[in-house]
Amino acid sequence: MKFFAIRIQPDVRENQADRYTEFPTLDEYKHIWNSGQKRQDGFHECVNFKNFNGKIEGYIPPNGVSIPANEKIAFIFLTNKANKKESKKYNLFDTIIGIQVGCHLTSQPCPRKDVPTELQKYLKKNASPLEYHYTTSYKNSILLENPIENASELIFPKSIYKSTWSMYPGSVREINNDSILFEVLSRIDYSISRRSPLYQKWKRIKNSFHLNLLRTFSEIEDIEYEEVANILHENKLSDFDFSSSIKKYPIPKKRSILSYNRDPNIVAGALLRAKGVCQGCFQEAPFERSSDGSLYLEVHHIKPLSEGGADSFDNVCALCPNCHKLLHLGKKDNRYNEIMKNIKEMLAKCKIGN
Ligand SMILES: [Zn+2]
Ligand SMILES: [Zn+2]
Repeated sequence: MKFFAIRIQPDVRENQADRYTEFPTLDEYKHIWNSGQKRQDGFHECVNFKNFNGKIEGYIPPNGVSIPANEKIAFIFLTNKANKKESKKYNLFDTIIGIQVGCHLTSQPCPRKDVPTELQKYLKKNASPLEYHYTTSYKNSILLENPIENASELIFPKSIYKSTWSMYPGSVREINNDSILFEVLSRIDYSISRRSPLYQKWKRIKNSFHLNLLRTFSEIEDIEYEEVANILHENKLSDFDFSSSIKKYPIPKKRSILSYNRDPNIVAGALLRAKGVCQGCFQEAPFERSSDGSLYLEVHHIKPLSEGGADSFDNVCALCPNCHKLLHLGKKDNRYNEIMKNIKEMLAKCKIGN
C-alpha cells in the first residue's frame, strides 16, 4: 500500500464555501465530518467527495504526484493548525486529522463529464477540474479524536527535506520514507484510545499495513496487556487451563518502537528538584539504585512527548513507580486527581522561583 499525505481542500460543493475558511479548521472539519448523509461519511466536502451507495467517493487534486492506478492507496489527511490567520504565521496544513486506507482509483484522470451528476451540480462553474477519482469504504475511514499537531515537521522534517510542504506545489505528497511513515502511523496509533469505539476499526486497519506498529508510551510500556486483558475477560479462575502452560521459552522478536530522546539534563534536573521524594504522593523514593546508590524515582512528562509535549522543566516531575504507573495506566479517580494536583502545585512553586 502506498501512503499519501493530502491537504484538505476548500469546500466547493453545496454552496457552503462561505461557511468554512479556505482550509477548514478542526472545528469546521468536525462539522463537515458530521454533516454527511445518514451516517458520518468522512472527508466528503473537503476533498469534494460524498457517500454514494455506501461507498466513499473522492476527487483529489491532481498536481504534485502521480498515483498508481491499480494499487490500493492510503490517504493521511491534514488541515491547518487553527485558523487561516494563524496558519500563515506557522505552517499550513499542520494537523493530521484523519486517515483513509484501501482507497482505489476508479479513473485516472476523471474528466469532468465522469463526475456523478449528483456531485456535478454542486460544483461551482469555475471550480478547477477534479481529476483523480477514488473510492473507499466507510469502515476504512477514520477521523482522529486527538488530532496530531506539528504534522508538517513530522511528515517533512527539515533534516531530510530541504523545502517545506508550503513551498512545494500541489496538495498531495507521497510519504515514501519508511521511518517517517512508521512514525506517522505510530502517532496515529497512539492518538486513538483503546477505549474508543474507533479502536477496533483502527486495529483492523493497522493489521492491513503489515507493519509491526506498537502502541508505545514514552516512559512506560504496557504493550502486551491488551492480549492479556482479552484472556482475562474470557476466563474464570475455576475453568482456566493451567495445565496448558508446559514450559515454553519465548522466541526473541525484534520490534521497532517509537521512542523519543529525552534530554538527560532535564531528567537529572527533575530528579535533583525532587530531592528523593515523589512529587505525586510525597512518599520517599522506594529504593536506591544498585548502580550508584541514588534514590530511585522516575521522570514523567506531564504532556507526553508523543503528543507534542515539551522536554522542559515545566513539563516534568519526578514520581515513585506507583504514582507514575497510575498516571499512565490507571483510572482517573481521586488518587489520580490528587497526584495531578500535587504536581501542578509543585510546578507553580517552581515558576515563582524556588
Ligand atoms: Zn508517589
Ligand atoms: Zn510518565
